[in-house]
Amino acid sequence: MVNNKKIIIGNWKMNLNVQESSLYLHQLSKIVKTHRDVEVVLSPTTLTLQSLSLQVNLRQFKLAAQNFYWRDQGSYTGEVSATQLRGIVQYGLVGHSERRHIFGESDKDIRSKVEAAVRNHIRPVLCIGETAWERSNGETYDILHDQLIGGFANITSEELSRVVVAYEPVWAVGTGQNALPTYVSAAVSAIRNQIEHLYGKKASESIQVIYGGSVTPDSAADYLALPGVDGLLIGGASLNAHSFNEIIKKAHRGSAVVE
Ligand code: PEP
Repeated sequence: MVNNKKIIIGNWKMNLNVQESSLYLHQLSKIVKTHRDVEVVLSPTTLTLQSLSLQVNLRQFKLAAQNFYWRDQGSYTGEVSATQLRGIVQYGLVGHSERRHIFGESDKDIRSKVEAAVRNHIRPVLCIGETAWERSNGETYDILHDQLIGGFANITSEELSRVVVAYEPVWAVGTGQNALPTYVSAAVSAIRNQIEHLYGKKASESIQVIYGGSVTPDSAADYLALPGVDGLLIGGASLNAHSFNEIIKKAHRGSAVVE
């Protein structure tokens, strides 16, 4: 059962080629201990997913796509669909701030991708978060509300149990400027309140909500200790095996190592 686990996702972004990715997975697999209470998910570039899917031990790591197109197949040159990724990845990032803000993805695109992931048995990780400008204008909760509604418009409460929400303030992603734990805590409560409003109390308590934004081995424990925070999405610090392993170790709550 995934829902009582902490989820630690490493987003490698557009780093590491096929050989480097394979070597890095090999290094990580030597040092990361598998615990029942933590799900470690690696999100390499699309190019390397297929080969890593043959190399990875799924009891140790799951794989996530960083992006995919929402249609299942057809004349969409250059795109990769969730249908094509089915069986290769277990998770798919959707609406990462770099996709929203660099590539102009709209809430409609993102909603379609959430649906495509669910339809193809891939757990979507819906990334939501405010920009620095929206934050300074006091719009944070409105943005979270709109991005949640936008992303989940066609998702049923049964499907919601397979979805993860990543709270990633845009101003904290890749900037070294991480959000204060109290700030994250308030935002995660707002997200859960919104889910309660849409899907009821049970859904709001059981949905997994994770935090991302310049998390390091030094700051990870502060976020993981927050009630309602079920894990972390790590960018920069996931590219160093020792840093990433230190973060994973912070997520264990004393469960035995799985051999
Ligand atoms: C991310 O890519 O989602 C992310 C949180 O990056 P970083 O940890 O580098 O801020």
